[in-house]
Amino acid sequence: MKKELVFGHKNPDTDAVVAAIAYSYFMNQKGIDTEPVALGNPNEETKYVFNHFNYDFPRVITSADTDKVMLVDHNESQQSVDNISDVEVTHVVDHHRIANFETSNPLFYHAEPLGCTSTIIWKLFNQEKIEIPAQIASLMMSAIISDTLLLKSPTTTDQDKAALESLSRTAGVDYETYGLDMLKAGTNLDSKSAKELVEMDAKTFDMNGKKVRIDQVNTVDLDDTLKRQSEFEEAIKNEMNVENEDLFILLITNILTSDTKAIVLGNDSVLSVFELTFNTKIENNIAYLPGVVSRKKQVVPQLNENF
Ligand code: MN
Ligand code: MN
Repeated sequence: MKKELVFGHKNPDTDAVVAAIAYSYFMNQKGIDTEPVALGNPNEETKYVFNHFNYDFPRVITSADTDKVMLVDHNESQQSVDNISDVEVTHVVDHHRIANFETSNPLFYHAEPLGCTSTIIWKLFNQEKIEIPAQIASLMMSAIISDTLLLKSPTTTDQDKAALESLSRTAGVDYETYGLDMLKAGTNLDSKSAKELVEMDAKTFDMNGKKVRIDQVNTVDLDDTLKRQSEFEEAIKNEMNVENEDLFILLITNILTSDTKAIVLGNDSVLSVFELTFNTKIENNIAYLPGVVSRKKQVVPQLNENF
């Protein structure tokens, strides 16, 4: 029998890939034969993580070549493998809203509103008293740092903090020092084209019939990154045409100050929904969103509500 595949979302972030690796290891320990895979190449931050801990990046696929799959760090079908409707989802471990998701068979579905899927998986390891190898612990630690921006994102819970502390002990790594280096490695944007940057962490949402695209890049200097505004806008307009998107939001987030400037493009009616939602004015296609760092908690639900 072919191994069941375990994977996170398209345009994977560190948690998407690491959660797949950790959950696959967990399942294998429980006697279910699985293989972790990724639905895309690593971003700069994820590359840094895998190089740093000398771990091989999993095989990259776009559609599943097995009958059964396990989803981590996502559930929405448009964020999953292209043939998701043709395969059986047996397990889900996730910390996002549930949308566009249905199965024909009963399944294991483990959802908790925590800061990181890897935190949920850490709890599963503890519950089943399965030991986490140091190398996998170091990856899981990285995923929590990434998703919670070193415990500063409003999505962070006490359980994420406990998991991070425990995993860093297992890994033998000082997470404060390592975490800052890791996050900074992810803000190295200069080598990327505007097209690559807007596609790097793309997520699409259906909001009351409107196709809303929300991408995010991290930086340590907002104004420096915004020097490329016109280049970004050209890439965004191109994407919107190809993908038929109604509203495109590129969140440019300063991970040191926890602020965001967003490039926002769309027609007047969707832009006014955006302005109303965030009680802000879009000027020169840019909206300033002080204190906003989490797409999942501070952007998606609020916009969805107003659409
Ligand atoms: Mn993710
Ligand atoms: Mn995540």
